[in-house]
Amino acid sequence: MHTIYLAIPCYNEKEVLPETSRQLKEKMFSLINDKKISPNSRIVFIDDGSKDNTWEIISSLHQSDPIFQGIKLSHNKGHQNALLAGLMTLKDRCDAVISLDADLQDDINAFDEMIDKFEDGCEIVYGVRSARKTDTFFKKTTAEGFYKLMNAMGVETVYNHADYRLMSRKALCGLAEFKEVNLFLRGIIPMIGYKSDSVYYERHERLAGESKYPLKKMLAFAMEGITSLSIKPIRLITELGVAIFGVSVIMLIYILVRHFMGATIEGWSSIAVSVWAIGGLQLLAIGIIGEYLGKIYLETKQRPRFIIETFLNDDSSK
Ligand code: UDP
Ligand code: MG
Repeated sequence: MHTIYLAIPCYNEKEVLPETSRQLKEKMFSLINDKKISPNSRIVFIDDGSKDNTWEIISSLHQSDPIFQGIKLSHNKGHQNALLAGLMTLKDRCDAVISLDADLQDDINAFDEMIDKFEDGCEIVYGVRSARKTDTFFKKTTAEGFYKLMNAMGVETVYNHADYRLMSRKALCGLAEFKEVNLFLRGIIPMIGYKSDSVYYERHERLAGESKYPLKKMLAFAMEGITSLSIKPIRLITELGVAIFGVSVIMLIYILVRHFMGATIEGWSSIAVSVWAIGGLQLLAIGIIGEYLGKIYLETKQRPRFIIETFLNDDSSK
């Protein structure tokens, strides 16, 4: 029997936590009763610097039942960092960690199948959405477009998989070797390797409250994913530069031929257009190079990726 921990990042989740904790506790107890997991298994909430009373709720859950534990980050660091904080803190305490969102959009009944696959020797089990019926048209198209764009940019991701997955201790130790600060776990985890598999489930609607991922954050996340894992945008710029250089050589020949034929009526419009086009391209190129420079800058600082303020666990309650 394995000790399974759940890692749940929470940011301003006061509306959903009471219901989420109830459902998760029920599920964990039934798994413990069925002898599928060890009674030492735990449910750990990671408070990502919430501004509401999320941490108070987590503390009182821990007080009421030791199956609940809480990790409080000192500041809001975003979903990916909060999740990493949880995974890295828990990796030496259990056999595997299942990560999921606080709003229970991911079907918790997929735990059983994840654990079965883990017992069959999989080190990573990805939760994959089989349908997106409850997502709005907008969310669905943007999200699916995102996966396609990522793949086109050479980032290996599991299609329609978010951060609902089981990772064994071995896989987590692998993840710990990745020292990068710009985190895009969905792109990094497939790089760990080991035997992995997927389980399929239907995604539900958010239990309550609002999405903590508005369009602006989603776009930033997509940008983060591409620029932290792929250098294809730089390649594209280089290729574009080569193509434009080729065109300019042809243009030069054409202009010289026209000149010697004595037919040079200089057109203002063509000059104006090319000034704009070249100016635009240069700006774009500088922008993209800047993006990578910014990343190098951040990586060289080697800032801690998270700082844990408190860790409520069995040791502290004794
Ligand atoms: N989250 C977090 N820090 C943030 C934003 C979100 O820990 O800065 C958590 C949030 O509490 C939830 C998960 O990340 O558990 C996913 O967020 P949400 O459900 O709002 O995203 P969506 O499902 O709408 O993409
Ligand atoms: Mg959600």
